[in-house]
Amino acid sequence: MMMIGKSAIVTGSTSGIGLGIAEALAKAGANVMLNGFGDAGEIEQTRARLAEQHDVQVAYDGADMSKPEQIEALTRRTKSEFGSVDIIVNNAGIQNVAPIEDFPTEKWDAIMAINLSSAFHMIRSTLKDMKENRWGRIINVASAHGLVASPYKSAYVAAKHGILGLTKTVALEAAEFGVTCNAICPGYVMTPLVEKQIPDTAKARGISEEEVVRDVLLSAQSTKEFVTVGQLGALAVFLCSDDAMQITGTALPVDGGWTAH
Ligand code: NAD
Repeated sequence: MMMIGKSAIVTGSTSGIGLGIAEALAKAGANVMLNGFGDAGEIEQTRARLAEQHDVQVAYDGADMSKPEQIEALTRRTKSEFGSVDIIVNNAGIQNVAPIEDFPTEKWDAIMAINLSSAFHMIRSTLKDMKENRWGRIINVASAHGLVASPYKSAYVAAKHGILGLTKTVALEAAEFGVTCNAICPGYVMTPLVEKQIPDTAKARGISEEEVVRDVLLSAQSTKEFVTVGQLGALAVFLCSDDAMQITGTALPVDGGWTAH
């Protein structure tokens, strides 16, 4: 258990990749603050299960990642409950698929706020303490779409490219303080976020939902397999280890060869 005594906030961890990373960190011994939306009863079940199975403290805060003041309250609360915030995983994200001419302006704003600006606010309110403690890990869940584009995802691709710039800048500012900042760039993972975009992609491209999975989602993913949340959790745990101290400012693809094209 390499992370005993460390505390992590994983944004958007009521579902999908965030939940997988939260679980992997808890398994490695970290206390975890869960965050995200969902059914209160289900969230409480997840919280209690993680705490019991991994014998760590697990709490939940429903801060809305589009609201800077709620993000600051989340980091303050985590510090007072767990004693410190040593690891942040900026994972919360949403998607909207539409041709740019029809792209709703409010969706653009929401994607920028949740997928990009929330990471700035999280880092802004935790980095000072990490530097003072001479230890910290910041992991931004970007995407293969941080490295390459796909049509109809203008806001998402712009936000994910943006978070890679933020990752590099924070890495440079934190480099001499024992704090690393990296981005993980997953290819397609079958989570609710991906399931929800299948009908819209089918509509935007005029093809069936089966064709979306085969010819769009997995077409560039050379392995023809989805990435799993467990694989991403394992990478996050490695990035939090002392062996990963010299890995900083990177964008690490976990994409079945997609961005090798
Ligand atoms: P998901 O929809 O399963 O989970 C998203 C999480 O974010 C949920 O917990 C949700 O409640 C939370 N969330 C959404 N809006 C929020 C807000 N305003 N405030 C707080 N929490 C909020 O999606 P996922 O696929 O697990 O995606 C997680 C991250 O991984 C996202 O940043 C996404 O862009 C990225 N990603 C996903 C894939 C994929 O194929 N699924 C690939 C690459 C990158």
